[in-house]
Amino acid sequence: MFIFYITAMNYTETHYLSELKSDMQMHARIATTFLSRRGMDNLLEGGGPLAVVQGDIAGRGSEWNMRVLVFDEYATVFIDSITTPGRVGQTLIIPEVLSALERQYQEPLLRREYQAIYYAISIPYGDGERFGAVLLVACVEDIFNSLSQISDRILLYSLMVGIAVVALVFVASHWLIAPLRRMLRVVQRTAAGRLDQRVPVTGGDEYAVWGTAFNSMTEKLEQVEKTREEFVSNVSHELKTPLSSMKVLSESLLLQESVPEEVYREFLQDIVSEVDRMTTINNDLLALVKIDQREQGLNIRLVSINLMVEDILKRLSPLAEQRNVALYYDDVRPVEMDADEIKLSLAISNIVENGIKYTPGGGTVKVVVDADHQFAYITVQDTGIGIPEEEQSKIFTRFYRVDKTRDRETGGTGLGLSISYSAVLMHGGSIRVNSRQDEGSVFIVRIPIRRS
Ligand code: ADP
Repeated sequence: MFIFYITAMNYTETHYLSELKSDMQMHARIATTFLSRRGMDNLLEGGGPLAVVQGDIAGRGSEWNMRVLVFDEYATVFIDSITTPGRVGQTLIIPEVLSALERQYQEPLLRREYQAIYYAISIPYGDGERFGAVLLVACVEDIFNSLSQISDRILLYSLMVGIAVVALVFVASHWLIAPLRRMLRVVQRTAAGRLDQRVPVTGGDEYAVWGTAFNSMTEKLEQVEKTREEFVSNVSHELKTPLSSMKVLSESLLLQESVPEEVYREFLQDIVSEVDRMTTINNDLLALVKIDQREQGLNIRLVSINLMVEDILKRLSPLAEQRNVALYYDDVRPVEMDADEIKLSLAISNIVENGIKYTPGGGTVKVVVDADHQFAYITVQDTGIGIPEEEQSKIFTRFYRVDKTRDRETGGTGLGLSISYSAVLMHGGSIRVNSRQDEGSVFIVRIPIRRS
């Protein structure tokens, strides 16, 4: 506002003064032409009609609103447009006049001390050998007075606009910051552990976009927290069973006196198998945690799925033989794809092992490796006990087992399929199940051959 004020005032003053200056230059030319026509020599020597010219100059001076003085070569005034009190006959030492007498041209000059503009130009006479001067003096007091009035007004308006702008900025900033303050409160409550907090979202501005993003983040956090709590309670529940049976077995041995050696052996054998079970759960949990550590990422390289499945079947054939289950391998076409061999092998191995575990003796498990131009398909089909339709969507959940009592006999932890699911998901793939109770199950793993 201050810069605007200064600039406006400067501009207005310069504009008025330069107009007046160019007027003065024009009037000075008119005056010199007029005087030359009247004959300066005659006028000076009293030969011309000095009184008439004097009157003429006085008339023009008041018409132009300027004082006009005519000097001879000795800087003595011989015509003055103002007669009362005139300066006729006086020698005046005025720098502008002296310069003009020496025939040095000067632009009209503002003399602030007199609040006037002085402009003098030389006028030749005596056959061009002598030089007098015409001086125009224009009073700028009126201009300065009106400028000061304008200045007061501009200052007042500037002040009013300034106050209005400050008030507006104050109100607008409050209005803009209010939703931010509300959001901050929610963020602080969330940071304090209250994950159920949501930012109120209205409209479609940046705050709404930010609020929606924040809400979806807290929803995910809440989900993760819930899964974590469920997982911990599942783990402790799973470990509780072997621990309490070990406690019961040990206590009953301690309470009895003179226990026969066979009983000791039998009970200790049971304790060992409970320890084995805990070890299995622990190993599965470790595998799951490793798979879940996504930041470690996948160790991707070109893998032959045919060789990988062949390897898995070789490793599992002793278990199949022990359970009297026939293993078949249908190698439809060679399939090579980008994959993390260890994780994918673990995923397929769990599914095949389940096929063997949940198929009664005399049954079969068949593994097929096939592919189209986009996906690799690994199908594991068994003639086992099958999975009831309503259970099929739950079997990939951690610790979920269809038949708890039987699975304890088969040594299942309920973690195998969730490990498979995570590993396949990390490869951008999916697992589909088709199963009928008492008829068998088919697990179809589909994974994109090239990673995008
Ligand atoms: P587990 O270690 O108990 O086998 P999984 O996560 O591998 O755990 O499997 C979850 C449950 O799904 C199993 O407990 C079992 O009841 C069921 N299941 C998995 N595969 C089969 C299958 N091929 N046939 C029948 N039931 C199966």
